[in-house]
Amino acid sequence: MTIKTGDDYLASIKSLGLEAHVMGEKTDHLPEHGLVKPSQQAVALTFDGAHDPETCELFCVESDLCNDTINRFTHLHRSTDDLVNKVKMQRFCGIKTACCFQRCVGLDAANAIFSTTFECDQRHNTAYHQRFKDYWKWVQTEDLVVDGAMTDPKGDRGKRPKDQIDPDLYLRVKERRNGGVVINGAKLHQTGMLNSHEILVMPTMAMRPGEETWAICCAIPTNTKGVRYIYGRQVSDTRKLEASGLDVGNPVYGGQEVMTVFEDVFVPAERIFMDGEIDFSGILVERFASYHRQSYGGCKVGVGDALIGATALIASMNGVGGASHIRDKIVEMIHLNETLYSCGIACSATGEQTPAGNYQVNLLLANVCKLNVTRFPYELARLATDVAGGLLGTMPSAADLADEVAGPYIKKYLAASPDGDVVDRIKVLRLIENLVAGAGSVGYLIESMHGAGPPMAQRIMIGRQANLEGKIARVKDLLGVN
Ligand code: SF4
Repeated sequence: MTIKTGDDYLASIKSLGLEAHVMGEKTDHLPEHGLVKPSQQAVALTFDGAHDPETCELFCVESDLCNDTINRFTHLHRSTDDLVNKVKMQRFCGIKTACCFQRCVGLDAANAIFSTTFECDQRHNTAYHQRFKDYWKWVQTEDLVVDGAMTDPKGDRGKRPKDQIDPDLYLRVKERRNGGVVINGAKLHQTGMLNSHEILVMPTMAMRPGEETWAICCAIPTNTKGVRYIYGRQVSDTRKLEASGLDVGNPVYGGQEVMTVFEDVFVPAERIFMDGEIDFSGILVERFASYHRQSYGGCKVGVGDALIGATALIASMNGVGGASHIRDKIVEMIHLNETLYSCGIACSATGEQTPAGNYQVNLLLANVCKLNVTRFPYELARLATDVAGGLLGTMPSAADLADEVAGPYIKKYLAASPDGDVVDRIKVLRLIENLVAGAGSVGYLIESMHGAGPPMAQRIMIGRQANLEGKIARVKDLLGVN
């Protein structure tokens, strides 16, 4: 059994020696970097969960592929129970970290590629499926973190890949060589990329005839020659670099997004899982997106739990925890959050087996789940801001709190309920600030809107999956209308 601990993981990532541009500097000391470390801690939790007696049953699962016990974050779902347990695990990680813990993208990519390669082989007589199985067996055995890389820059949105001024605006096969291909392009918004051992590259959308060169799916190690990383900024991220951890809001964990550039990167044939089969590019995108839309019914709910807990806590610290209008707002937050969870569970419980043997979520309900996620966290954030009060946006800094002149005034005038300590009150307010307007809002709000596709993408899928014709036919039948 190879189930790493968080410390094993941190050591293995460090050993990769990855380099990145972070805030204008090229650094190869990523694990020690103040902006990066919180995001690695969040990923490490996905490993420690497999060793925690309270959660190991949820995190550990038997794999048919390597005939061993593995971490569920590398699992190919074998049942609807597996799909449900994935969402439960993500909710747990969400409340523990109060941020994006980054490891789900590779899991969702793997399940989508597993079923897509199987069907592609049947239609095109290709040999991708066994290749992918061999690759993923290794990922499971080594307990790796894999970045699922889908989003291309896309350039002029009104033009197809082949009509762009620069063909690299969609990642493509630039050259064919003996034993493999050379790829060029970029992937944007890459969650947890620098905390990953491997990259699974996927096409960004359904390709059409003439666009075969952009229909590429393959895997490379993150420390492959020719791959460059440029670290994404987050709101108030430099607070993570301050000596006092108080103003950062989330003292331990954080998210990570990275612009990733592929410059003449060679990919050997044994790591290619699609190469020009345009009829499967859209299927792969649709499946991956649906798995990740399911994921949000777990992770965002967990972060929502943290926000609800902080909101209830600040209400009681403010001395209004028992006020009926406050309790009603907290109940509203719970209602919204549990509605998201219901969607995550529903699309899992009604999933189906694919011809390849793994389980796929219910596409309609996964898209309903994500469409709700584009709205409800914003309402949760609004309610949390309402309950917390204006101090959320005006609090003096930790440096002033430590100042011998300003500090005593802050302690005197920010005191509220006699049961609550002033510094504790500031900590809770800073966590809420982090989630509704700070670094955490990137994961909790902006990612909720655009991660796994913007609302319009879900509306299109809902329109396609809803069987509107069937509903019309039923009504005609009921009314005897031709
Ligand atoms: Fe996982 Fe959620 Fe982050 Fe996606 S946004 S990687 S589902 S925690």
